[in-house]
This record gives sequence, structure tokens and C-alpha cells, in this order.
Amino acid sequence: MTKWSLRCEECSREWSLDVSFDLSDFKKLYYYCRKCRKNTYHIILGKVED
Ligand SMILES: [Zn+2]
Repeated sequence: MTKWSLRCEECSREWSLDVSFDLSDFKKLYYYCRKCRKNTYHIILGKVED
């Protein structure tokens, strides 16, 4: 699993997501935002290094 840092385009909330695939080829990810309570576009900020 890799942790990715995402930022919601609508509310600017930053959070990290654990996924088993590589997001580095994507610029944006359409995903559920818990603050907006709907699917929104997220900017992929990069990998989170542990
Ligand atoms: Zn949001």
C-alpha cells in the first residue's frame, strides 16, 4: 500500500489515501470527500513518505 496526499478542489481539505496502485500517472482523482460529503476532484499532491 502507498499513501498519497490529496487535496479536495472544493473545500481544500488535505488528507491521505492508502491505495494499492500508483497514482503518479494521474493529475486528478475523482473521489469521495468526507467534508463535502460527495465525490469531488482531488489534486494529487504526491506520495507520503513514512
Ligand atoms: Zn471537499
